[in-house]
Amino acid sequence: MLLLAALLLSACSNGGNSGNTAAEATVQPTAAATQAAPEPSAKASASPEASSAPEAEPSAAPVTAGAASSTATQPAGDKGAASSTATQPAGDKGAVSGEQPAGGAPAAEVPLLYHMNKNYDIVPNEEGTNKKVVLLTFDDGPKEADMINSLIDTLDKHHAKAIFFVNGYRVKEHPELLKLIKDRGGIIGNHSWDHIVLKDKPYAEVKKQIEDVQKIVKEVTGEAPHFFRPPHGAGGDIGKKIAAENGLLYMTWSVGSLDWEMKEKDSNKTAKLITNVTDQLHSGSNILMHELPWTVEALDTLLTTLEGKGYSFADPRSIELKMR
Ligand SMILES: [Zn+2]
Repeated sequence: MLLLAALLLSACSNGGNSGNTAAEATVQPTAAATQAAPEPSAKASASPEASSAPEAEPSAAPVTAGAASSTATQPAGDKGAASSTATQPAGDKGAVSGEQPAGGAPAAEVPLLYHMNKNYDIVPNEEGTNKKVVLLTFDDGPKEADMINSLIDTLDKHHAKAIFFVNGYRVKEHPELLKLIKDRGGIIGNHSWDHIVLKDKPYAEVKKQIEDVQKIVKEVTGEAPHFFRPPHGAGGDIGKKIAAENGLLYMTWSVGSLDWEMKEKDSNKTAKLITNVTDQLHSGSNILMHELPWTVEALDTLLTTLEGKGYSFADPRSIELKMR
């Protein structure tokens, strides 16, 4: 064991940043922020993603290895997957269907209606499917039961589902909050263990950052995530590859609410958040928000505003797990 520990430690320091273990999670973001190309500034450690536009990574071939993507649980290519009657197999090897933990309803069959394009927008698979939809996402939790309950109360009111991209170190501190999200119908996404910048980190380290979250979410909820969003929108080619190896759909976002730039004392946060979103709004918008108090407060008005503009909310489970 000691030898193993020593090896691990030396492996970490080879990466130039030894602060990547779960135990050191709380000191991560500062170091990370200096490396994030699109990061506005290295301010508050709590301040998460970068700019309103994702980093300019997407041009590179997104999911390279064809072999890797075939490990996804997604119904395989051909015509079947694209058909609107296709459905996502729930969970790994049917774990969900039979062994859903108490409190959760059996996973409903959700037709696969959409796929993600290289701008991380949601696009209908077939003509005739409503394209005026948005994808709602909340990053960096789980933090507090009150915020989670309020967010989901509002989502329920608008018959909307959202992805909650969680960090492993937070799940470890509060597994009951992850369970709360799941039990209330939230879709869990993987946002890495430590919320560090994964781009340019060694393969083994990125793999651990992603797969440890797959493991703990599966342990707590009975189902591993199907969606991955790298912290700071910077996963790099290695992050994309490892996501594919785990059957995860990799995404950054296409509309930033900029809620992470706001501070408690700022005025008119709801109005600003809504303007930030509507300024960039388009069909298939992948909207980045966070588990933050002002976002909780703004959500009802935001969703009403989006509905007023004719948008509805895509069920994340209706999105194919392979980008095209
Ligand atoms: Zn984040």
